[in-house]
Amino acid sequence: MRSTMMDVPLLVSSVLRHAAQYHGETEVVSRTVEGPIHRTTYAETWRRTQRLANALAGRGLHIGDRVGTLAWNGYRHLEIYYAAAGAGYVCHTVNPRLFPEQIVFIINHAADKVLFIEPSFVDLLQTISDKLTTVEAVVVMTDAAHMPVSWTLSGLLCYEALLAEQPEQFEWPVLDENEAAGLCYTSGTTGDPKGVLYSHRSMVLHAIAVCLPDVFALSACSTVMPVVPMFHVNAWGLPYAAAMVGAKLVLPGPKLDGASLHELMTAEDVTVTAGVPTIWMGLLDWVEAQGQTFGRLQRVGVGGSACPPVMFQRFRDQGVDVVHAWGMTETSPVGLVNRPKAGDGARSAVDEAAFSAKQGRPIFGMEFRVVDAAGNEVPHDGVASGLMLVRGPWVAAGYYNAERGVDDAGSSWFETGDVVNMDSRGYVQIVDRSKDVIKSGGEWISSIDLENIALSHPSIQEAAVVGRPDERWTERPLLVVVRRPNSNANEDELLAHYEGKVARWWVPDSVVFVEELPRTATGKLLKTRIRELYGPEPR
Ligand code: AMP
Repeated sequence: MRSTMMDVPLLVSSVLRHAAQYHGETEVVSRTVEGPIHRTTYAETWRRTQRLANALAGRGLHIGDRVGTLAWNGYRHLEIYYAAAGAGYVCHTVNPRLFPEQIVFIINHAADKVLFIEPSFVDLLQTISDKLTTVEAVVVMTDAAHMPVSWTLSGLLCYEALLAEQPEQFEWPVLDENEAAGLCYTSGTTGDPKGVLYSHRSMVLHAIAVCLPDVFALSACSTVMPVVPMFHVNAWGLPYAAAMVGAKLVLPGPKLDGASLHELMTAEDVTVTAGVPTIWMGLLDWVEAQGQTFGRLQRVGVGGSACPPVMFQRFRDQGVDVVHAWGMTETSPVGLVNRPKAGDGARSAVDEAAFSAKQGRPIFGMEFRVVDAAGNEVPHDGVASGLMLVRGPWVAAGYYNAERGVDDAGSSWFETGDVVNMDSRGYVQIVDRSKDVIKSGGEWISSIDLENIALSHPSIQEAAVVGRPDERWTERPLLVVVRRPNSNANEDELLAHYEGKVARWWVPDSVVFVEELPRTATGKLLKTRIRELYGPEPR
């Protein structure tokens, strides 16, 4: 029997409309590429978004056309998010930190028709513009005074001039909620990047989940600063989630160093923030070195890579709660979140460290399976590991315009490529990417565990562990580290640090000291490159 409920689609435009109607005075604060701090409100953002939607429609775009962005976290990027998706186009965020050839591949593959870029990316665009085959217009996200003079090609539009010409009213289309609203390419370390097309429905449902108390716990009293870039899986849904609950939004622009983040965070009374561990290392180092505090900050979401227990403790020492979370481009991204359950009580320091290393338990909407090579579920005992499969309303069922979909195996589950264990209470720990786990003597060694232990040594700034081919054992772990400035910890000292913390056969065979570790454009350790550099033939 059909219900008697209204069939109102879940649309991205309805999120900002709600924010403008009921939280119109709430602020959106941005650090701009031009320099100054910019302040606006949800009501003003809505008006400007309608102007922008008119401008896009006026360019003759059709429903489903892709609108690309090469931009940092800022109010204009927020307007593009809502205008492009709300008007029925697809907001395609491109990671400007990728290699130019990858950017060209992604823009052409997505067939972006309009491209919005920060003024600081005009030079980059100039080097690739003759290779872009589908872009009809490039809009520089600035005002007339800051338009680049160096541009040699014609047809460059000015964002503010474009908006100024447009009316403030826009007739938002009532779309099918399963239509595409956003597009993001995976930052995969092998093969060509693959596009994940998010629907209005998946975006809205995921944003509701992000607000839940056991996720980022957002409300109209929160001040949210997404440090995770808006080009990295929709800044983990925070630009939608914040507007949905009417939280103040603080957008840090291009300056992600410890001093700049701290200045903005404390000046704007940020209560919740989120980003990848490398960013937090920089901020923690700066705050501790300067003897500063985190002001009103209550929670920091950490994901994208494993949050080392030592980082959890450093935040705790400053009175800030860590929300360790797991996600992927294909999962919108949030899937697992590490929050305690009732009755957990106080833990010993050792138990607390072990708990904090876990990526968390499934949030509602996400189903998880952990299976062995034969596809059989492994015991949920917190020890047995297997491949993690997921499904849910915000998980990709295929890639955009790809010959083969997500679902190569023909099942309705998405294979994450992560090797994990799950305990009896549903908490999952990522052992490794299946490609990165170290196979030694027929057993698996977790590179993440070994990295976390290295990072708990006071002299270590960054650590990576990779498998080095070994005739007898197949692979043996190699530790590659960046030391903190002015520290001179040697190999013996670092290897001794593993004693009593892991089985003896897990202890890395040797240590390589380097100045920096290669990372992907989203800040993850580039293990393929580390293996190439230090794996087969140690330097
Ligand atoms: P991406 O799609 O580029 O965001 O990468 C997703 C992958 O990042 C996942 O499959 C995991 O391997 C890794 N990842 C994300 N969050 C975490 C986390 N909290 N701990 C460990 N690995 C993570």
